[in-house]
Amino acid sequence: MSYIKNIVVIAVALLFAVMASVDFIAMHKAEPIADNPNVTEIKMLSEYCEGLKGTDLDTEIYVLDSGKPGGAMLILGGTHPNESASPVAAIAMAENLRCTQGKLFIIPWTNKSGFTHTSPLDGMQDFFDIELSDGSTRTFRVGNRLTNPVDQWPDYTYYMGSSGRELMGTEIAEIRNVDRLYYGNPNGVLTERVCAGIFNLINEEGINLTMDMHEGSPEFLYLDCTMVNMKADNQKAMSIAQSMALDMQFDDLDMRAEYSGVKSYGLSHRSLGDNTASMMTLMETYNPSMGPLHGKMDDDLIVNGNEPNYYQAHLDGYIYFDVPENGYPLVERVARHVTCVTYLAKAFSEAYPDKAIAFDGLGSYSDMVVAGLGKILKPVD
Ligand SMILES: [Zn+2]
Repeated sequence: MSYIKNIVVIAVALLFAVMASVDFIAMHKAEPIADNPNVTEIKMLSEYCEGLKGTDLDTEIYVLDSGKPGGAMLILGGTHPNESASPVAAIAMAENLRCTQGKLFIIPWTNKSGFTHTSPLDGMQDFFDIELSDGSTRTFRVGNRLTNPVDQWPDYTYYMGSSGRELMGTEIAEIRNVDRLYYGNPNGVLTERVCAGIFNLINEEGINLTMDMHEGSPEFLYLDCTMVNMKADNQKAMSIAQSMALDMQFDDLDMRAEYSGVKSYGLSHRSLGDNTASMMTLMETYNPSMGPLHGKMDDDLIVNGNEPNYYQAHLDGYIYFDVPENGYPLVERVARHVTCVTYLAKAFSEAYPDKAIAFDGLGSYSDMVVAGLGKILKPVD
């Protein structure tokens, strides 16, 4: 009789394993991006770092070339996939923008492997939905800030990144974090090859200005903030970022610009800024689904940014960020990123008219918030 019990146990275990596998495999399918006639080319990052070819970390680069001489801007979305406003803003830009001077390079899934899993034991959900104005639904993956261990394992016990950042002890999992391994190594761990691909792209395409879009948990002190590389010959980047922040303040959007931390080695704004000619910026918005105080993980939390625990913590004086009572919806965070990118390009173009970068297609912050993600995102098959 005991073998029957064994078979039952194995059958039940298999049932759960199959159900979980179907779930995990579904996360390997990237969300479709609607056609935009203004996209002139879709390249792959492996064209800039061969060691990415055939791996889950190779990723699409949407090129919008105006055909008119000017500068080049790189926009990184999804460096940390679970910072949902970042990949959604990049996808919205890839679907809607029209470049009228210079060139734009947009990467929606910078750490593409990170989109294929979620944070274990955190009660995460795999996907969230956005209803479009035509009645259809777009589904996006929640993802994780690190590369999936299926693609890069083990985490070693010690790793020295190209910037000199030493990873060990409790920080060793960051060996799967794109934003700790710049300026990259084409022969390093897979995550570091993504960094090398971006480093080479900046050099080969003559990128003048880069924005790496992020979100942070409500406890983070640098929300609604743009970090700027501090190297001595890059002071101009700070004046451009300050001009962007002033433009955003005129739109009633809190924004400030700060220099990279002295020891922020391996982070894009620090280590790409130190080692390439591109002006490097990184922006953060508030995301309550990322902090430990959040309640149930659901679409209300991700899409409406509504978490009463954080509002209460703010009222009680524990959260410095001015948490809105009725949430901080994804559309406002996406619109903030797009507005920041737009004003950065404008300030850069005023400072360097011979390298101007101009684009349109998404309108102002209030245009985007009034339209909502249901109109900004286009229907897909
Ligand atoms: Zn981030």
